Amino acid sequence: MLIIQRCTIFRRITQFCKQLFDDAQTAKNPQSTHEDGSLSLEIIPRDGHNISRRQISENALKVLYRLHKAGYQAYLVGGGVRDLLLGHQPKDFDVVTDAKPEDIKKLFRNSRLVGRRFRLAHIMFGREIIEVATFRGHHTESNEKISKTNASGRLLRDNVYGSIDEDAERRDFTVNALYYNIGDYSIRSYGGGIQDLNARTLRLIGDPETRYREDPVRMLRAVRFATKLGMQLDEHTGAPIKQLAPLLKDIPAARMYEEVLKLFFAGKAVQNLRMLREYHLFAPLFPIVEAQLKDEPKGPAMRLLAEVMQNTDARIAEDKPVTPTFFYAAILWYPLQARAQDIAMESGLSPYDAMFAAMGDVFEQQCQTISIPRRFSVPARDIWQLQQRFERSKNGRAFKLLEHPKFRAAYDLLLLRAAAEGGNTAKLAEWWQQFVDGDDDQRQQLLKGSGSSRSGQRNRNAQQRRRRPPRRNSNKANGAAE
Ligand code: ATP
Ligand code: MG
Repeated sequence: MLIIQRCTIFRRITQFCKQLFDDAQTAKNPQSTHEDGSLSLEIIPRDGHNISRRQISENALKVLYRLHKAGYQAYLVGGGVRDLLLGHQPKDFDVVTDAKPEDIKKLFRNSRLVGRRFRLAHIMFGREIIEVATFRGHHTESNEKISKTNASGRLLRDNVYGSIDEDAERRDFTVNALYYNIGDYSIRSYGGGIQDLNARTLRLIGDPETRYREDPVRMLRAVRFATKLGMQLDEHTGAPIKQLAPLLKDIPAARMYEEVLKLFFAGKAVQNLRMLREYHLFAPLFPIVEAQLKDEPKGPAMRLLAEVMQNTDARIAEDKPVTPTFFYAAILWYPLQARAQDIAMESGLSPYDAMFAAMGDVFEQQCQTISIPRRFSVPARDIWQLQQRFERSKNGRAFKLLEHPKFRAAYDLLLLRAAAEGGNTAKLAEWWQQFVDGDDDQRQQLLKGSGSSRSGQRNRNAQQRRRRPPRRNSNKANGAAE
């Protein structure tokens, strides 16, 4: 009898401990999945959340209502819902429906179908585009026309349609698997999305490694959302990133260009740089920059990079324009110097010509991972060339330099270089700073101080003209190499 009682007590204690452990596990990882692996669902009625239609773009509402009236399901999904719940202004509004792309096209005259990997409809309202996607489903059949993966598990095509529940499982993070139902204004929260939002936890849906292999860009999105929303990566979401980071090398360079814009041109460049480097995600994006940071972790390249990021964030905070031209010219400046030095050593070209030749090489290398449009890379070369002219133009030519269309950007880079290098570059920057800020008299004083006069200048211009032909040749050689 005593033995039986003891067993019962022991079993109860064991059960109690197990319950405690299970509760702790659920609290740690509340992404609840059902036994069949499907995600948990919680429906929050209209009076249980703070999203009102007034906060949603009129055009998004029009799209939602028209789909609904035509008998389709229609939800606002993803960042729009997430940001409204957090009290932020959403960047854009995405809609999801059970209508197929062709049905959407018929319903909206102002629409066009886009995307190969993900086929979806863009509904155009002047400058605003509302993206409407059809619920995505699982890949049960092996029909290459609608779904396809490569050897490392990357999804090359994902056009299998399904139910809203399946669609939620195909989304990236639980906080992005939130759906606002235009039918009754309720919110569907999958996998504990609402709880994660409140706890500021960024949690990938499903098995993290599989999901990163399907689309390695999700690793960049993890960083971007963590910094943008002030969230922590859940332990399992963060764990495989360092190891899988090299998979980013396979991502088409055009897509990467867009992702890099979102990472560095949205006011969180400083934090994103830090986190990208921490998770080894910077190297596959900018291999030639990373090589230099590794060589000299506290050197000028690192300092310049930090300055560029701070500068970009500050400009965005002040609503000033930012351009990829300056951004790429600045962060590739030291890789350009390194390449120019190598070329000069190998070929015996003058430093000027070696740098000219290096410009083509550096952009060619960088464009293998991020395809920088020519409208940005061409003027970036002007910014680089002007760096060389600063030293040689502390004379009458200084006035001419001021008129150059890229002077301002080049001068900004000179100031950043000065902050990163100190020494002679800082002295040069100081001279130019005084020249730019000075009135006529002060400028003349500066020119005298640097031992120059306008007549002396004329002679130098003549020498310059005589020296020009070889430069033009090197220019052409460089252009041909592009
Ligand atoms: P923001 O627009 O603020 O950058 P977002 O979450 O809306 O954030 P979008 O790129 O607009 O991001 O994508 C809309 C939604 O589509 C996301 O919220 C997510 O649910 C889903 N999504 C986007 N990209 C992926 C991806 N690579 N893998 C899985 N789901 C994705
Ligand atoms: Mg969005």
